[in-house]
Amino acid sequence: MPTSFETLPSNQPTADSIRDNILTNPGFGKHFTDHMVNIRWTVDADWHGHQVRPYGPLVLDPAASVLHYGQEIFEGIKAYRHADGSVWTFRPEKNAERFRRSARRLALPELTDEDFIGSIKALLAQDHTWVPTPQSDADECSLYLRPFMIATEAFLGVRPAHEVDYYVIASPAASYFKGGVSPVSIWLSSHYKRAAAGGTGFAKCGGNYAASLAAQKEAESHGCGQVAFLDAAESKWIEELGGMNLFFVFKDGRLVTPRLTDTILEGVTRNSVLTLAKDMGLTPEERPISIDEWREAAATGEITEVFACGTAAVITPVGELVTENERIRLQGDGGSEVAMRIRKTLLDIQYGRSEDKHGWLTQLV
Ligand SMILES: *Cc1c(COP(=O)(O)O)cnc(C)c1O
Repeated sequence: MPTSFETLPSNQPTADSIRDNILTNPGFGKHFTDHMVNIRWTVDADWHGHQVRPYGPLVLDPAASVLHYGQEIFEGIKAYRHADGSVWTFRPEKNAERFRRSARRLALPELTDEDFIGSIKALLAQDHTWVPTPQSDADECSLYLRPFMIATEAFLGVRPAHEVDYYVIASPAASYFKGGVSPVSIWLSSHYKRAAAGGTGFAKCGGNYAASLAAQKEAESHGCGQVAFLDAAESKWIEELGGMNLFFVFKDGRLVTPRLTDTILEGVTRNSVLTLAKDMGLTPEERPISIDEWREAAATGEITEVFACGTAAVITPVGELVTENERIRLQGDGGSEVAMRIRKTLLDIQYGRSEDKHGWLTQLV
């Protein structure tokens, strides 16, 4: 039996004209819909109080343990409007599963698929008018959904909290790339590390992002938009970016991505790219890849493309890797042909423009 959500509709919903105006140019993560989901958990009562209620500030006790010890996890997933007006999401069961993996690592309670996917459906039932309508095939607008879980117990002792809240908020998002996809420069952090063995690298938690921001600042001071991290033990193996997984296209058709370890976050996009690559006749390979291999194979032209992938930007071609003392560029014009082909294949499925052969879509509205 699916749990039902009690709905408390907002008595001050955004006026249609204001919402339409926001949806013509939503940017990213700046505007929020009229409602949010909340489910409470306590050690005695398990998950309860499933609610869709007006979007608004949270009331937290200043001693809430999330504010002190950072017991927090989150997800990122999108809702896409198809040409017939229906609204769909992409592989939500993968996000639900990862959310449980993250929860276990952060000693938070696990949420079922039913509650995770049910919460998204319940929010969309109220706020579906906030899903932007693409104006063309190149318009990658969507409603970005942010499920998250925080420790809300007012207690300063160090132990897993006995009171936890789960929320989902939603934010309309424009295409990540305005004026077309263009390759980005990436900074190789030589000092900072994202994750160490036995740590939280595979979990989607705020703490990993907090720890990456100093490296992000360093990247920006070198004219780069993103940071690539090496492994913490040897400073030798490519892991991923702060919030995206990496792929390397080889001249002979191999598509290489670092093998999953507990220091790499398993992206849903990464997993989907591996499947689509096989469909497209490429040879996916999950294995360790070193910074030396990147440097050498880029110089010889054996690596023809590098790209990053994640829900927010889908697939982003990487133009160059910048380090303290070198710039690693690819031979040729870096046409990003393979990256762009995979990108289009994925987007066509997500926006309902091609057959959903793998059964990846779930209808929300
Ligand atoms: C979210 C995230 C990704 C990408 O995951 P997707 O499920 O593809 O959006 C990659 N790396 C990190 C560190 C992340 O937090």
